[in-house]
Amino acid sequence: MPVGQPAVIRSRRVVLPDGERPADVLIRDGKIERVAAHGSLAIGDGELVDLGDAALLPGLVDTHVHVNEPGRTEWEGFATATRAAAAGGVTTIIDMPLNSIPPTTTVAGLAAKRKTAEGQAWVDLGFWGGAVPGNVPDIEPLYREGVFGFKSFLAPSGVDEFPHVEGADLEAALAEQARIGALAIIHAEDPAVLAAAPQQPGVHYRDFLASRPAGAETAAVAHLLAALDKTGSRRTGARVHILHVSSAAVLPLLRRAREDGVQVTAETCPHYLTLSAEQVPEGDTAFKCCPPIRDEANRDALWEALGRGEFIAVVSDHSPSTPDLKSLPEYGGSGDFAAAWGGIASLQLGLPAVWTEARRRGHTLADVVRWMSAGPAELVGLSGIKGAIAAGCDADLVAFDPNGEFAVHAGELHHRNPVTPYAGRTLTGAVRTTWLRGRAVDTGGEPFGRQLTRPANPIFESTS
Ligand SMILES: [Zn+2]
Repeated sequence: MPVGQPAVIRSRRVVLPDGERPADVLIRDGKIERVAAHGSLAIGDGELVDLGDAALLPGLVDTHVHVNEPGRTEWEGFATATRAAAAGGVTTIIDMPLNSIPPTTTVAGLAAKRKTAEGQAWVDLGFWGGAVPGNVPDIEPLYREGVFGFKSFLAPSGVDEFPHVEGADLEAALAEQARIGALAIIHAEDPAVLAAAPQQPGVHYRDFLASRPAGAETAAVAHLLAALDKTGSRRTGARVHILHVSSAAVLPLLRRAREDGVQVTAETCPHYLTLSAEQVPEGDTAFKCCPPIRDEANRDALWEALGRGEFIAVVSDHSPSTPDLKSLPEYGGSGDFAAAWGGIASLQLGLPAVWTEARRRGHTLADVVRWMSAGPAELVGLSGIKGAIAAGCDADLVAFDPNGEFAVHAGELHHRNPVTPYAGRTLTGAVRTTWLRGRAVDTGGEPFGRQLTRPANPIFESTS
């Protein structure tokens, strides 16, 4: 759609904030100008795209993506990740601060990321900062530069250059973030529980699962809530977000904390909702992630919590590596779960994976949009800009065929490496077209994604 010219996208299934209905969506200058009755808009010489029965969704906002560039570009990079995102209906990603070298724990690290990403973003792109031991003085400058919040690990992260925080370091990081009103995002597994768990290497998934028990998640969350108390953050209105909840046992702790006035949110991921320990083949380390995919009963409990609104977001935690580091037998590896890199590659597949299972369980497209577009946009303060088909929002849109089935071939995805636990599965729900600010994204053409900075935060902007 040419700039300056209006365009209309028409569908009998437009997923709006208050539900799904037939509508026309008028777009001008990259934004949604208004939503009108189906068939009501005639726009002269402007463009009209009629999707018929295919659905029109707001583009997904994936706030948990490890791009890994610069430094580990052979794992994933901005070009490959953002093309995969666009092909999967994701129009905004927020990049995690680790696995790249340098990590995003200093302003210089952020500048390196931004420079590397220039001209390589097929979707819009923002950045998380990292809170690690000793970098409290970097937190405010990073926030000023526009990171969306700060990630910390409570247990070893898997890479040496991004150490975990505990004790006084954790409290100092939380206190500084509370002071400026930043969102603290936490990888919650407890190192002592992990250290005490049985460590049995090998090709049996049950041994890996036993090495990362649910108790590690609950202990870490309990510890975090205690640290929040100790730093007085509960009173100061600190905001914390628990990343990639895999164990439903965490949820009662979060409910209680919320009842107590703590501002704590949580996310889960497509793989915890759609895969289970019982399904993992021997030696198939494509399924390895931390915290791990747990059993079927736990998966059901996660869905129930999702239905009750206990998760603000469902996001990918896309964290690939090269096939050799995954120890995959088909690439000459041992299939040893203990040795393999812990991370799931799924950025391009999150929407159909979740939709396939959501539909089976009686959920609607509007539910999926709430979990994967509106919720994550709200988490990072982008409501009103991203994540909704509403007047004034960016025209980030997806034509989605909710009945389209396809078989997953890992090598055909835009991900840099052809490894995903969804390989060989048939998923329902096909992305037909992705528009970013009103323009159709062509993954074979020129990129026009923009780099985002966090929206103004009244707490910070009033203290600085
Ligand atoms: Zn992650």
